[in-house]
Amino acid sequence: AAAAEVDIRHESVETADGVDIEVAANIGTLADLGPAVDRGADGVGLFRTEFLFLDRESPPDEDEQYEAYVKALESFEDGRVVVRTLDIGGDKPVPYLDLPDEENPFLGERGIRRSLGPDADLFETQVRALLRAAASADGANLSVMLPLVSTVEELRAGRERFESVAADLDSEGVENELPEFGIMVETPAAAFMADRFAPHVDFFSIGTNDLAQYVMAAERGNERVSDLGDYRQPAVLRAIDATVSATEGEDCWVGMCGEMAGDPDLTELLVGLGLDELSMSAVTVPQVKAAVAETDTADARELAERVLQADTKAEVAEILTLDQ
Ligand code: PEP
Ligand code: MG
Repeated sequence: AAAAEVDIRHESVETADGVDIEVAANIGTLADLGPAVDRGADGVGLFRTEFLFLDRESPPDEDEQYEAYVKALESFEDGRVVVRTLDIGGDKPVPYLDLPDEENPFLGERGIRRSLGPDADLFETQVRALLRAAASADGANLSVMLPLVSTVEELRAGRERFESVAADLDSEGVENELPEFGIMVETPAAAFMADRFAPHVDFFSIGTNDLAQYVMAAERGNERVSDLGDYRQPAVLRAIDATVSATEGEDCWVGMCGEMAGDPDLTELLVGLGLDELSMSAVTVPQVKAAVAETDTADARELAERVLQADTKAEVAEILTLDQ
């Protein structure tokens, strides 16, 4: 039996019919890097950088952030490290930032909205650190993405920040490089407008935790509405399908970094929907890699087509033969 077992660590995985699927890990702090490497992640699909800002009295400076990003890159020699710029607000408070008291923080000033607004200085520091880290990468590739984007203007403004900060660094003689650039698709607006975003980015990463919350108007973490906020709801699946379909003919890969990506019972469906990369908590990386290796993409596409015909979550679950 031992001979039949494949050690999937540090081996990229492909489907039974030979399609590469990247299986990456989500990290919050540098302490998450060890488990990500040990479990055989191909890279980091989501570095939640707000964790660098939590549990302290003041924000990390440019050098501290630079070191953190370089550490992540060094952990994955040939892999990709996707760093998400600050996603503060909503459920992620930071005491020294003096966040506004909002009635509906999930619908308020969070993510890119703060980075282009009250946290513009913090954003600039982070962008400087990222541009420097991208230049230092030797082997691994740095990618950056913006959280909670809902308009093309936000994407443009975010991108312009990277370009203008790069020009500043150039004029200071500081080595820097523009990283691969993407956005998270985690608002219905981004899913509806995905065809307009796609030409301006290198990739999308679908954040199903927020996407399910906003598509279904069901607060994440609220058990009273957890059945509604489930990523197996047909409306959520349609939003994912619309996002992937919008990239057809565009040079734009699509990943997923919400919890759904780490559910091995859904791997075949996600491959069938056309995801190129799945990023999850390190603990499920081996299971998802094993599920990818068993998947045939033609069967997976057929499964996805059937699932997209479902009227209800119960029907989705039935098709996927899941316990409900
Ligand atoms: C998501 O919303 O799915 C996501 C991955 O981001 P976070 O959970 O950090 O909001
Ligand atoms: Mg999110």
